[in-house]
Amino acid sequence: MTLQHPIHEGKVKSVYDVPGDATRVTMLFHDKVTAWNGKHVEFPKDKGATCCLISALLFERMEKEGIKTHYIDCPSLNTMLCKKLTIIPVEVIVRNVAAGSIVKTTTISEGTLIQPPIVEFFLKDDSKDDPLLTIDRVRLMGIDPTPLQMQALDINYQLQALFTLIGMDLVDFKLEFGYDAHGDLFLADELSPDNMRLWKKGTKERFDKDLFRKNEGDIVEAYKYILTQLRQFV
Ligand code: C5P
Repeated sequence: MTLQHPIHEGKVKSVYDVPGDATRVTMLFHDKVTAWNGKHVEFPKDKGATCCLISALLFERMEKEGIKTHYIDCPSLNTMLCKKLTIIPVEVIVRNVAAGSIVKTTTISEGTLIQPPIVEFFLKDDSKDDPLLTIDRVRLMGIDPTPLQMQALDINYQLQALFTLIGMDLVDFKLEFGYDAHGDLFLADELSPDNMRLWKKGTKERFDKDLFRKNEGDIVEAYKYILTQLRQFV
């Protein structure tokens, strides 16, 4: 496939128009991992394909459960054909267990069970360091938070059930959503251990990007383990 200039260049993915098709885009997953808002970067082999294949498998699973996603097809190991959407500039985070920023910015200690799960909104803008938003601020930005919250909790329910089957606790994850030309809401971006925390059931053994953030191990090996396990059930 010949790709033109990207219409969007993310930190580890690039998005391209599909020539002659205004409704679809191609998303290319790079062999690249970043942390601390791009300040820490490495280029691990197979990382792009592994994230792409996990995302494809999880999007397919979500579609089977009635959740509308931007996923159409996986034409090669590291490319995904997707619906073209207008992305909502808000990152939607679901938390089942306290870790990461909620531990840093509150009195809640790591590993605390969050029951019922919570949904948080962060601004999707690296130049402003992705601050935590209030529901009122989301509304003032002209975004209705309710469908995002409802979809996020539904996705959490489905993903938790799936990860339980492979012996993993789904600690937290980030979602992005977008609208198509008809105004319909779709789950977008990717669903992979780059965007979620996965701990081996009942432990804090990590199988996610925190291995890279904390320099504690090989992310590609961990991600490939997740892919192999998921393939048994999806
Ligand atoms: O940083 P924080 O603890 O709030 O992250 C919560 C979850 O969202 C983690 O799984 C993290 O990997 C994911 N996340 C992400 N992209 C961001 C911020 C958080 O994938 N920009």
